[in-house]
Formats: sequence, C-alpha cells, structure tokens
Amino acid sequence: MPKIYFDNNATTRLDASVFEEMLPFLRDNYGNPSSLHSFGREARRALDNARAHVANLIGAEPGEIVFTSGGTEADNQAIIGTVDIIGKPGGRIITSAVEHQAVLNSCQHLQNKGYRTTLLPVDREGRIKLADLDKALDNDAVLVSIMYANNETGSIQPVEEAASIAKSRGILFHCDGVQAAGRLPIDVRKLGVDLFSLSSHKINGPKGSGALFVRRGILAPVLIHGGHHEQRRRAGTENVASIVGFGEACRLAKQRLDETARNCATLRDRLEKRIIEEVQPAVLNSCRGICLPNTLNVSFPGVDGQFLAINLDLMGIAVSTGSACHAESREPSYVLKAMGRSDDEASSCIRFSLGRENTIEEVDAVVLALKELVRSLRAT
Ligand SMILES: *Cc1c(COP(=O)(O)O)cnc(C)c1O
Repeated sequence: MPKIYFDNNATTRLDASVFEEMLPFLRDNYGNPSSLHSFGREARRALDNARAHVANLIGAEPGEIVFTSGGTEADNQAIIGTVDIIGKPGGRIITSAVEHQAVLNSCQHLQNKGYRTTLLPVDREGRIKLADLDKALDNDAVLVSIMYANNETGSIQPVEEAASIAKSRGILFHCDGVQAAGRLPIDVRKLGVDLFSLSSHKINGPKGSGALFVRRGILAPVLIHGGHHEQRRRAGTENVASIVGFGEACRLAKQRLDETARNCATLRDRLEKRIIEEVQPAVLNSCRGICLPNTLNVSFPGVDGQFLAINLDLMGIAVSTGSACHAESREPSYVLKAMGRSDDEASSCIRFSLGRENTIEEVDAVVLALKELVRSLRAT
C-alpha cells in the first residue's frame, strides 16, 4: 500500500511547479541580487517577483516583506528585534501559553536578560480571552505576540480584536501566522497587525525560507546584522532559489485557497465523524468552526499517543502527537495542558494534519488502521 502523509502541519511536499521555478536559480542564474551587472539584476528581478507574490497572499505591500530563513527566524526577529529597538529595560512581552516554541523561547531568551513575559491562559478551545489581554497591558508592555492558528490543534485566535486592543494602547502587535497564511484568507490591513510571520515549507514551498511582514511606518526590528540587504532589515545574501520557490508557493496557495480549504475540510469532517463514532472513547481537541480546515487533534484516553503514532508509522501512516519541534520529548503537550486536558488526555493525542493531495480513500484507510490499533492497545 502507498504511504499516507497526514502531517502537513509539520511540513508539506514541495509542489512540482515550485520545484520547476526554483531550478534555474540552482543552476545557471547564480547572480547575487546585490550585484549591479546582468547576473545580479536577473536575481534581483526574481526576488522582486517573489516579494510581490508573498505580499499579495496577505494583502501587504511588497516593501513590507522581509525575507528570512523561515518562520522561526521571523518570530525571533519580530520579538527579539522589537524589544531591542524599543530598548525599554524590564519591558514586558505579552503572549499566550500555546504559542509555537519559536515565540515562547524567544520570550524566554529575553526573560533571561531581564525582560518580563506574561503568558495569557487559554480556554478549552485553545483561545485567549480578550479581557485577560486587556488586563495584562500595563505601562511596561512593549509587544503583544499572539499566533493566528495553533500548529497542534488548529485553534484560531481572535487576532483582529486582540490587535485592536493593543493598538488602542499604542503597543506593537506581532502575529505568528505560519499555519494560517496560505490556508485561510489573510489580510494584514484588516487584521491591524504590525508584524506577521510566514513560512514557506508549510505551504508546499521549500524549507529554509520565510518572511516577516513589517508594517510600513513602524521602526523595523533587526535580528541579523551585516550588509544592507532587505533594506537593512535582514543582512546576508538572499537565498534566491528558495525565495523564488516561496514566491511561487504563495502564488499557488492564493490561487487554490478555497479549493484546498474545501477539500481539507471535507476530509477532516469525515475523519472526525468516523473517529467519534467508531473509535470511542475519543476526546476532540480541535473545534470545528474556529479551527484550521486541515487540522484534527484527538485524544484516545488510555493509549500512549507516541506509541500509537509509531505503530501507525509501521503501517505506512504518518501522523504526529503534536509539534514536530518537540517530538523527541516525552512530556505531554504543553498546548493541550494549557487547554485544561489531563496528563492522560494530553499524552494520548494524535494530530492529523491534511494537505491538498489527501483523499477520502486515505481517510478511510487511516480510520480502519486506528480502529484496529486502538482496540489492541487498549486490550493490553
Ligand atoms: C512551523 C512553525 C513555525 C516555524 O517555522 P519554520 O519555518 O519551520 O522555522 C513557527 N510557528 C508555527 C505556528 C509553526 O507551525
């Protein structure tokens, strides 16, 4: 049987047309975009083109897009760079308990240097309460960082409302939009965010590429110092081939947004319905309606999630227990714990994250495998 890949929140397959667009820049078009000769100008044109596609995906202007090495660097730049530029000793960053580690550990790094962090709690659906944010915004606040959609559960935060609260107090707002950009319609102007992180490899682009949206008019945060690349906002010769691929991935994602979302939602709903009916007891950790259309997170109490995932892998089915970034850790998911799940529930979860290539047949094959495995694991 061909393998089944249900781990698209960890990474996705490189789209064939993205690969084709990248190839010339891995072979013959090797110019440095900062060079003034024809080789350089060709690379510069390719960067400009990619920048326009990334900007268009999220309703930004091309000049507001800074290319980075990925979502992690974009988050680091947004948080560490902003705190650096504001330079308020003892300043406070307000974020949530369910953020990606790229955000949480950037905050931790700053905390070690004397800054302070407030982690907003979340409800059982994984969402912050706006009243908590309002209360946390004291005179020391320098930045609010709230993700758009959670990588483990798909839960969507009230970003527009949160950004508006921060704005009313004159505090900068960053959003980790890595799981949302290219999967949901995003308009940074409507959202009212100042900074927004994207990653290429979560939307069928190459790994090692991403971007930070920096709203025009704010002082740009800088993390990597050196030459005058990216209008002095990110030094280092640009990874041209990867950026070209990222641009094409954004163009395709925008074009296919509705189709992909609809396909994923159909599959996800079927998977959810069949699991609830046929693999009881199962606890849903993601909520339809306020969740990414491609993500389903379920706990199977009494079964070790890690063990279940390994056994599914032996049957050629790739899922995960949560974030790929701490898959080696045996700790129950901090995201699910923050959502009020018990240790048993949090360590018995499986995250199914679908992509545009998945099919109904695959969903049915996964349900069949799950039924067998969960029954036999519970029997032992
Ligand atoms: C994957 C992910 C990141 C990190 O992006 P990379 O490009 O892999 O560095 C950050 N935030 C979220 C929510 C993610 O899912």
